[in-house]
Amino acid sequence: MTPSKSLETYPYNKYHSMEEINQWMKQISAKYTDLVTQHFLGMTYEMRPIYYLKISQLADNPKKIVWMDCGIHAREWVSPAFCQWFVREILQDKSRIRRFLKNLDFYVLPVLNVDGYIYSWTTDRLWRKSRSSHNNGTCFGTDLNRNFNASWCSIGASKNCPSSTFCGTGPVSEPETKAVSNLIESKKEDILCFLTIHSYGQLILIPYGYTSNKSNNYEELIQVGQKAANTLKTKYGTNYKVGPSVDILHATSGSSRDWAQDIGIPFSYTFELRDEGSYGYFLPEAQIQITCEEATEAVLSILDGVCKKFRCSANSSGKVTSTSVVLSLLMSLRSFI
Ligand code: ZN
Ligand code: ZN
Repeated sequence: MTPSKSLETYPYNKYHSMEEINQWMKQISAKYTDLVTQHFLGMTYEMRPIYYLKISQLADNPKKIVWMDCGIHAREWVSPAFCQWFVREILQDKSRIRRFLKNLDFYVLPVLNVDGYIYSWTTDRLWRKSRSSHNNGTCFGTDLNRNFNASWCSIGASKNCPSSTFCGTGPVSEPETKAVSNLIESKKEDILCFLTIHSYGQLILIPYGYTSNKSNNYEELIQVGQKAANTLKTKYGTNYKVGPSVDILHATSGSSRDWAQDIGIPFSYTFELRDEGSYGYFLPEAQIQITCEEATEAVLSILDGVCKKFRCSANSSGKVTSTSVVLSLLMSLRSFI
């Protein structure tokens, strides 16, 4: 697609270049002015802007935040496709996500690793890292998902630049991770859920990657995650495994998921989308739609779990019934007694 085409015909079942995704962000915030605003997050190593979308319904009540980032690993192309899909889902008429907007704002970052994503389009389809320069300009790229300040570079990461899991020169040494960390840190009291989208493997990962110790809310994370995997399966029968990264994938330090857990965000998950390796990073465009549809079910299920705990949705059907109004009145009365 050329960047001048309209939003109405934007193909969500195709992979898009960074230029197209930037154009899409501009168009979507211009069309849904009452709901969507585009924000500058920071600059990449190669001095490109990183943008995220804030989806927020105008209201007087204070709201909590759901964070979703995609494209931290360049070659995982279905990830940015999912972020775009998910944004469209929120904005659709009669969307099942709209019910959450009364009490939740969505922050969606379609491509975190902008430099790497572009490089995977122009030069090396299997590029994973950022494009920062090391070893006197002879080696490039930090694995941004090993660069967060969570037991940095202690395990499952490398201090050598040529490695695909190079952790950088220090915790949060990269401008991209710095930009994300700063925003999340500044909003952390309000963020209920941190979702970071990868491929592939069909996994819903919970903390931790850097230790086999269980997080303090392990049972709850597993329960909500397992429910999400079950819901996902009802769509097309796809199996997703749920568990800590260290147990069901591999040990990793410096991941954003573990960092989000450590700074106190209650629900932190990594999604590894389709498939299990038949196509891997080369997942055909024909599978984008089903991948996104089933993963959307899982995200909605997680949000149900989050909102059950923090009472952030009207009710599960999206309609505010008279019973639930009476109930919430009783609940609020009770708090005065
Ligand atoms: Zn990844
Ligand atoms: Zn991995």
